[in-house]
Amino acid sequence: MTINAACCYLDDSKRWSKEFTGSADLGTSDNKHAERAAYDAAASKKSNATTFIIVQNAFPCIKCTMHFLGESKKGKKFIFHCESNVGHYAKECGFLSRPFVKDPDNPSYSEAQLNGFMYFKEGKITAKGKMFTIEGETSSDPKITSSRAVGGDLRPPELISLPDAKKG
Ligand SMILES: [Zn+2]
Repeated sequence: MTINAACCYLDDSKRWSKEFTGSADLGTSDNKHAERAAYDAAASKKSNATTFIIVQNAFPCIKCTMHFLGESKKGKKFIFHCESNVGHYAKECGFLSRPFVKDPDNPSYSEAQLNGFMYFKEGKITAKGKMFTIEGETSSDPKITSSRAVGGDLRPPELISLPDAKKG
């Protein structure tokens, strides 16, 4: 199975750039995972870009999640559009609660069909209707889980208002 990612940065006229792509077979070392290759290509094209969208057929693994969280603490913002769950990383990044709870927006979906959007900003992860908890963030074995968010929308308004940045 191959994971394919396409990354665009937000250009000076607030439009998405062309796509920078990356791909990796399952089992590739984590610093060469598809989303990192795609992001590195986009970021090297425009070093002062701050906002990125990454579309891929998988969720980010825990190593990549922590990597992008680290980038988000340096002022970068990310929208991950995960179109499917190749590799079943939705658990590692915390998007999928354990045990598997049906997606309220798509109750017929199995775990493998899961898809969705995640947002990374200032060291925090958000997603529609979810609240994320990161344990052992500075340890070698961090764990991310999510639970149903109660109350308001936690997603960054400046990210979900961008084109292609959310469902519906
Ligand atoms: Zn990864």
